[in-house]
Amino acid sequence: MPPLWARSFQFIQKVMKSQSFKRAVFPGSFDPMTLGHLNILKRSIPLFDEIIVAVGVNDAKAPMFPLEKRLAWLRDVCSPFPSVRVKSFEGLTSSFCLENEASWLLRGVRNGGDFEYERTIAQMTQVLEPNLETVILFTDPEYAHIHSNVVREVVRNGGDASAFLPSEINFS
Ligand code: ADP
Repeated sequence: MPPLWARSFQFIQKVMKSQSFKRAVFPGSFDPMTLGHLNILKRSIPLFDEIIVAVGVNDAKAPMFPLEKRLAWLRDVCSPFPSVRVKSFEGLTSSFCLENEASWLLRGVRNGGDFEYERTIAQMTQVLEPNLETVILFTDPEYAHIHSNVVREVVRNGGDASAFLPSEINFS
């Protein structure tokens, strides 16, 4: 075992690193990822040292696209961004953040409906996990109309949803 002074030094280094390293989690169903999600992600990259885009697996919500497909698309879209990682998780988002030593929870807002919903979730999260801070960005206006449920509807009915999606996401 290293001497006490070395262990103390390592401990101090670890604490300093964890305090200065800014890791955020961007959770969602990404079913599929849209240009709206991408807009929030790209604008957040300068704010954090690392962002984990985290696909929540929710048994109550039957996704249109399988988890592996959604992760593969996300990994393709995020590959140009070295500080972005892609993962999936089950259970509480706040637990996933703690397990991954992330102190920030990233969300996007399109309109008043999203705002009310995100405010409720953010305030409840603050009660449950006071050390987890929710950061909410308003989408750039040109992406405010994009909802993944409408994208799913277009795809389901054989329409062309490419105007709403990153170029890496196609259904051929
Ligand atoms: P959706 O609400 O489209 O089903 P998710 O559950 O994957 O999407 O949402 C993940 C996060 O991305 C949420 O905070 C959601 O409000 C945000 N988001 C989704 N679409 C957009 C968009 N067009 N512009 C900005 N934020 C968005």
